[in-house]
Amino acid sequence: MVAGAPEFLDWLARWYDALPVVSLTDMFPQPERGAILVEDLLIGFCREGALASPRIDALVPGAVRIIERARAAGVPRVVSSQDAHTPDTPEFEAFPPHCIRGTREADLVPEIAALQAQGAFTVIEKNSLSTSVTPAFERWLENNDDITHYLVIGDCTDLCIYQLSMFVRLWANATNRQDRTVVVAASVVDTYDLPVAAANGALPHPGDLLHVLFLYHMALNGIHVVQAINS
Ligand SMILES: [Zn+2]
Repeated sequence: MVAGAPEFLDWLARWYDALPVVSLTDMFPQPERGAILVEDLLIGFCREGALASPRIDALVPGAVRIIERARAAGVPRVVSSQDAHTPDTPEFEAFPPHCIRGTREADLVPEIAALQAQGAFTVIEKNSLSTSVTPAFERWLENNDDITHYLVIGDCTDLCIYQLSMFVRLWANATNRQDRTVVVAASVVDTYDLPVAAANGALPHPGDLLHVLFLYHMALNGIHVVQAINS
């Protein structure tokens, strides 16, 4: 038994249950200075292919709603950070091949693509879990330096969402940008589930536990973790 695990997991469950619901106005006090960062709402994670998962597909309606509501409130900018892998990426030694550039899996799900068509929607392609090693994203941050509030949505909580949220937080810390707020809402992020009993020799991935653990770890680092964003 890992020392301290039972009491920490008990505390963690209570922490998660008590996460606040905030309003859109709380999230974006100055809407024109807000942005939504969407991670990997792609066909290859939602609907087709080795990594598609019903838990991730279930995020799509909530993601569409929050983008539409935010835009209606005057939040103009949306960034989609998305896998567009080369076939030979070493990532495929850890995860089965997925979302290869130019294939259907690498396309946004149609519901999000419809929002892309409405404009103010920047696509950042990546060939790893982390948007941080994609120079185009740091350039976007610098070119949109008037943004103070970033809302991160999509998948997966413990993988790309963690990497993206932490990168924006650490970029702001490292560059002494005092006025930056990074928010992750538990209701619009999630991760895949592979229970120990179903892993068959692969590394298991208990989705509920890793979702909550990584939300906690983001909170530990100064990211604002909330349950949901109401109107
Ligand atoms: Zn990938």
